[in-house]
Amino acid sequence: MLLIKNGRVLDPASGTDAPRDVLLDGERIAAVAAPGQLAGRASGAELFDAVNLVVAPGFIDLHCHLREPGGESSETIETGTRAAARGGFTAVCPMPNTRPVNDNASVTRAILERAAEASGVRVWPIGAASAGSKGEALAEIAAMKGAGIVAVSDDGRPIATAKLLRQVMDYCRALDLPVIDHCEDSSLFAGAVMREGKQSVRLGLRGMPAAAESLAVARDIQIAELTGCRLHIAHLSARASLDLVRAAKGKGLPVTCEVTPHHFTLTDEDVQYDTRYKMNPPLASREDRDALIAGLADGSVDAIATDHAPHEPALKNVEFDRAPFGVTGFETALALGLELVHAGKLSLMRLVELFTMGPARVLGMKRRIAEGEPADLTVFSTEHSWTFRAEESASKSRNSPFDGRSFRGAPVATIIAGRIVYRR
Ligand SMILES: [Zn+2]
Ligand SMILES: [Zn+2]
Repeated sequence: MLLIKNGRVLDPASGTDAPRDVLLDGERIAAVAAPGQLAGRASGAELFDAVNLVVAPGFIDLHCHLREPGGESSETIETGTRAAARGGFTAVCPMPNTRPVNDNASVTRAILERAAEASGVRVWPIGAASAGSKGEALAEIAAMKGAGIVAVSDDGRPIATAKLLRQVMDYCRALDLPVIDHCEDSSLFAGAVMREGKQSVRLGLRGMPAAAESLAVARDIQIAELTGCRLHIAHLSARASLDLVRAAKGKGLPVTCEVTPHHFTLTDEDVQYDTRYKMNPPLASREDRDALIAGLADGSVDAIATDHAPHEPALKNVEFDRAPFGVTGFETALALGLELVHAGKLSLMRLVELFTMGPARVLGMKRRIAEGEPADLTVFSTEHSWTFRAEESASKSRNSPFDGRSFRGAPVATIIAGRIVYRR
């Protein structure tokens, strides 16, 4: 047993924001009570003093790339989930664009077997929508669901055509799986390496307009309406896309979206000839960034997801045009979210919701601190001062635009199935 004493429990599901002791008994939460009340029941339990710390439900990351199988020089399930644990994440959802692609049950099972031997962070794989994510035939979605996938996506690229998306959604509605789409009109995006605007002109880099994303969002919402399937928009970056999601929610459509920490923190004005600023979708305009923050605050955005996308230095240390898209994100996500809280743009409760109940709901799950619930908790400080050093990261890769950034607030303990998997 593990007793977490004297913490400030923040539980968006119940609206609790109060001092509470939480007693964990293996896989489950055994009791939650006012400080000192559990002393009798907890005799012999291991103690964790959470004084001055927030105790939240376990964080879930809906979107990451663990690179295994096939990209082990950039990341493995072991190193990626260790970085996730340091970021406070108790569960992560790896995208299927591995080599081979996770488009059949044997790859799903292999990922889960590796995860079971790794750091302890729960791995909930996302299966491909189409075979090889090539946008032609359907992947083996039902068999993958049997093996344990929680959603489908062709991330790395959009689901190729409206017709294919309709087939995938008809299928996934019957299987009760959400479809996650990387929304991009490839004809408008073609050849772009950043957002189109003054900065792309200044740098002489090829840009893409926001419409390259929002056009695809519009298509997807209409197919979701046609099929009744749950649609989740990955890494939403443009105000026009968010407006479409808001309107869809207003009509009662099953549409959700996520925003990444880099998109709510940086803008295209931050882009330099430095490949750590190259990701897809690219950093957006200031107006877009501010709209994303407003959406995080008002509930239009459902989740913060990292899109942790490690690339080994040999791949990233090339010219901007030639570098792969993607940045690492597990270890800085919470601290970047706390920047919004400290700036008065987001409540702490809402931030916790975006890491817990929000992503859980996208997956059709629940996340709360109550007796009988899974003993997954994220304990963090809102005040701890520290500096992120990419070279000290648990990830195998170093491609973070936040290397050297100083933060106020950090994960302190990641607790999974009643066990402390990471402690600062
Ligand atoms: Zn993507
Ligand atoms: Zn991605």
